[in-house]
Amino acid sequence: MKVTEPRKHEVISMKTIGFLGGMSSQATAEYYRLINQGVKAIRGGHTVAEILMYSVNFQNIEAFVRNEQWEDAANYLVDKALRIERGGADFLIIGTNTMHRVAPQIASAIKIPLVHIIDVTAEAILRLGLKTIGILGTKPVMEADFYRNRFKEKFDIELIAPSDRERERVDTIIFDELCHGIISQKSRNEYISVMQNLADRGAEGIILGCTEIDLLVTAENFSELPLFDTTKLHVHKAVNLCLGIEEIV
Ligand code: GLU
Repeated sequence: MKVTEPRKHEVISMKTIGFLGGMSSQATAEYYRLINQGVKAIRGGHTVAEILMYSVNFQNIEAFVRNEQWEDAANYLVDKALRIERGGADFLIIGTNTMHRVAPQIASAIKIPLVHIIDVTAEAILRLGLKTIGILGTKPVMEADFYRNRFKEKFDIELIAPSDRERERVDTIIFDELCHGIISQKSRNEYISVMQNLADRGAEGIILGCTEIDLLVTAENFSELPLFDTTKLHVHKAVNLCLGIEEIV
């Protein structure tokens, strides 16, 4: 009887994604699902991404944000980023907009490139030729200079934030609901009305500048303006980099 030799599998090579996650765990689950879905859609079969993830304790992060303990946040996250680097990741993504507040400290502590969430978002906005964009996110993202200034200085994109009262609600819904996995139609309607107000004030598009927001609202809920979903844009870049479709710079 003739025995057929099993075909030898050649190991598939790809870049390893370093992922600083857990901010929150809800967003991280979405990143993980979307990254693997993206890789599989391109490569097929059982091919998914090679990921080195450090998922942090969100209780620490929430307290750092509430108390504006940015130095403690930087120290905490630099330590985790270094562990990811030591593990052999080829580049790093941080799955939260808010904690990019300490991205400069993280980027200067590691040798692998940090793929900045603002840069991938700005690239998408510029591809559509837009300049004035509404921003939804946590209070630090909507109010602090670190976010707004990078868009302005590096990409000449102007951000419009919701009103005081609206910012309060947008932030509360993120921390009290979305980060706990609570998705409600009432909060979705509130977000849609904030988005409509931004459109009425001249926004040409809206940044979903918090990595949980896509769990609540998508283009299906608000189609008046282009939405720049930071989670999906960041994931798309990570997929392209790990597969070598785009160069890591
Ligand atoms: N995931 C959120 C963001 O993109 C908020 C949670 C956090 O403070 O990291 O900003």
